[in-house]
Amino acid sequence: MPAVSELFGEVAAAVRANADELTELDRAIGDGDHGLNLRRGFDAVAGLGPELDAMPVGKALQKAGMTLVMKIGGASGPLYGSLLMGIGKALPETPALPDFADALQAGVDAVRQRGKSEAGDKTMLDVLAPVCEALRDGVARSLPASRLLDDVAAAAGLGLESTRALVARKGRASFLGERSAGHLDPGARSSQLIVETVCTRLRGGP
Ligand code: ADP
Ligand code: MG
Repeated sequence: MPAVSELFGEVAAAVRANADELTELDRAIGDGDHGLNLRRGFDAVAGLGPELDAMPVGKALQKAGMTLVMKIGGASGPLYGSLLMGIGKALPETPALPDFADALQAGVDAVRQRGKSEAGDKTMLDVLAPVCEALRDGVARSLPASRLLDDVAAAAGLGLESTRALVARKGRASFLGERSAGHLDPGARSSQLIVETVCTRLRGGP
């Protein structure tokens, strides 16, 4: 496993590199701040640096989640914050792979509760819920790590694409009603980007 600070460093770099795209997506069906929101949040988390590696991974994720809540003004701050805090709280001190699958389920459930939303509402949950399913399924079938990571990344991509046809039922995009269809959801794209970045890093070995 790479250090938590290294993973967040890579996520922050990916968010930075794709911030304009996230903003464009949010400009189409929201208010055009998603790239900036996530950049501010993940730059702050990456800025915690080695402090994160000095604690158990669950505590580090909770700290990262709290940082996102504090730094991001938009809806995505409390939602990504709930995800990371939910995962972090559910992890034992020295987790094994199945613990991560259970913890991700707890994190996704926390997003559902916080957002009062479900997969199908055209939000980040349309990526996070199938990603969680793929991880749990792969763990249950004892898939080799590389296959598991491929399946998880593929689930993220399919989930993202699924948001294009959907009509938004939550968040700012829901104000557009039927006109929200035909666009990818910005939060689904940022979730897919984060999942892809983590999977690519984990595939690369220690
Ligand atoms: P804001 O909408 O406040 O400007 P952002 O632009 O940073 O915040 O984030 C928008 C994204 O947040 C949406 O694309 C969607 O994926 C996600 N989102 C918004 N509301 C909800 C909700 N109730 N449940 C789940 N995700 C949501
Ligand atoms: Mg926005």
